Amino acid sequence: MGSNNRKVCITGPARSRLVQETLEKAGCVIVSGKNYDDFPSYKYNRHELLELIGDADILLPSGREMTSADILDSCEKVQAVVKTSIGIETVDVEAATELGILVCNSPTPENYMGVAEATVGLMVALFKRLKVNEPHLRKGGWKEPQNRGTLMLGKTVGIIGLGRIGQQVAKRLGSWGMKLLGYDPYVKPETVAQLGVKLVSLDELLRQSDLVTLHVVLTKETRGMIGLRELKLMKRTAFLVNTSRGAALKEEELIEALNDGIIAAAALDVFQEEPLPMDNKLREVDLTRLILTPHIIGNNPGSLEAGQRMAAASILSILEGKTPDTVVNPAAIERWKERFWA
Ligand code: NAD
Repeated sequence: MGSNNRKVCITGPARSRLVQETLEKAGCVIVSGKNYDDFPSYKYNRHELLELIGDADILLPSGREMTSADILDSCEKVQAVVKTSIGIETVDVEAATELGILVCNSPTPENYMGVAEATVGLMVALFKRLKVNEPHLRKGGWKEPQNRGTLMLGKTVGIIGLGRIGQQVAKRLGSWGMKLLGYDPYVKPETVAQLGVKLVSLDELLRQSDLVTLHVVLTKETRGMIGLRELKLMKRTAFLVNTSRGAALKEEELIEALNDGIIAAAALDVFQEEPLPMDNKLREVDLTRLILTPHIIGNNPGSLEAGQRMAAASILSILEGKTPDTVVNPAAIERWKERFWA
């Protein structure tokens, strides 16, 4: 049967049409929702979303839509949910698994290497006080002894979450002579030991680090894992970087910690609500204490295309009845075969 005339619903297509073109060439029929790049905040109501998905075989949701248990249950023909990104927290994976629906992500090296590079860039900007010195110069100032940066050599970086991105960050910083601490209850100690990372408890990591960087997946356990209690354990001179998911830290409490000097500064690429609402208080924090980027710091044209290519390959393999390596819920495979391929 293959992919001929099989329907793929792309709820929020990007401007680049790579994924559509690849799938159309293979004979798929594409149903597209509102363009994501032009309508990043658009919210479909349940009725609109169900109507859009209709009798699609594959669902490719954008970061805008929640693929809830209800949506999955109501779309009888959907056999897989495929994301072009790494994060899958907008998909109810548990419900998908129960229903025998495959969930795939697209962890391309262009994506995770890009985020690792960007994270190191943000760290350098914080340690070297870029956001203090640049505006100071523009306002007519010149070098001030108190605006000097910090030597990174010998400083301690705490990495929370040591998967693809956390490990790539460790790999880069290890060669700079920095001490690396890690917290990740699920990583194999031997994997990170090779990268020179010492695994410690979360509290010890927070107490000892000169900079803490978050690289966790968003789960029930990691949602809000960094709040005022944790920030108060950090050194007053320490920095925080989050390029993982906004909801891993309690934004309101971070704002308090930055305004009260509980930690020195932070850099955020991700937010609880995206795009960041105009009235979000993060925008009001002194810019010398907070670097904000719009969930783009790790992106590059290559990363977007690679994600689309990987997602298209996953879809075509699923439509052949084969399970791609990108399946994040292998427990669904047996039921998926019974339900869609028996
Ligand atoms: P990954 O799955 O390879 O690694 C995540 C790590 O988090 C795993 O090692 C896991 O064991 C660990 N973890 C799970 N629960 C934990 C807990 N309670 N405490 C500590 N660690 C825990 O994912 P990745 O590809 O490295 O991506 C990391 C994060 O970066 C994800 O949230 C992803 O969505 C995000 N991301 C952001 C961007 C961006 O543009 N800013 C791009 C890609 C990925």
